[in-house]
Amino acid sequence: MQDALIDASKIILKSNYLIALTGAGISAESGIPIFRGKDGLWRKYRPEELATLEAFRRNPKLVWEWYSWRINLILGAKPNPAHYALVELEQLGLLKFLITQNVDDLHERAGSKKLVKLHGDILTVICTSCDYRNKISEPPRDIPPKCPRCGGLLRPGVVWFGESIPPDALERAFAEAEKADAILVIGTSGVVMPAGAIPNVVKGHGGYVIEINVNESAITNIADCFCKGKAGEILPKIVELVKSMMGD
Ligand code: NAD
Ligand code: ZN
Repeated sequence: MQDALIDASKIILKSNYLIALTGAGISAESGIPIFRGKDGLWRKYRPEELATLEAFRRNPKLVWEWYSWRINLILGAKPNPAHYALVELEQLGLLKFLITQNVDDLHERAGSKKLVKLHGDILTVICTSCDYRNKISEPPRDIPPKCPRCGGLLRPGVVWFGESIPPDALERAFAEAEKADAILVIGTSGVVMPAGAIPNVVKGHGGYVIEINVNESAITNIADCFCKGKAGEILPKIVELVKSMMGD
């Protein structure tokens, strides 16, 4: 394992344009369950049955109850050492851009500045009938919530399974991947497309792929360096190694 951490640190130091892609795994140690783990269940539902437009049309109240539960979890959670390690890499000038699939706000709260949220933001509501959108700081009081402008149904400001990523966010993410000569892939299963293809873009033009995950994922077969373990333990160690190598 130590060898993988040293390899990862060397790649980071040698890189000219390092980016990162994060998934639900980076927030797991903050107490926010991943979708594909055994803790991801709410009542008897699988997330794939709730995080869709069909589910929302069928039963907006049920879907909003799930989102209220998740919003409360996120508001009560704190960034963990993995989020802070990425901030430190950004401040050292080594990490140029962060692409997250997470809808929580832990990267922002930790202090990451250059980032795009590919799958939206759970602390935003958007109207299904007009162009109203608003930030929220607590779950809606009445469920399902109504638009204050037109009375239409409000939905969470996230990208559901089967929906497209907003084009500006998608273009930015892929433009960053085109520029990158190395990518840190942290806590993602790599199966949600098109985000899962971002490491392939970097690899495709000769860039390095460093993966941090507790398990192998759909990315592992293209990883130049696989650091197996918890993001909150591995990433701070990598940052310490990078800093000690910078001093050499
Ligand atoms: P996922 O649930 O499919 O996969 C999570 C990955 O994290 C797995 O590969 C798992 O092995 C790994 N993992 C778990 N704990 C870890 C740890 N402590 N350190 C390192 N790795 C760890 O998540 P995904 O790939 O992000 O995709 C699922 C979708 O679910 C995304 O679109 C995302 O928007 C959404 N989601 C978001 C949140 C959030 O915002 N925190 C939480 C759950 C799901
Ligand atoms: Zn409206």
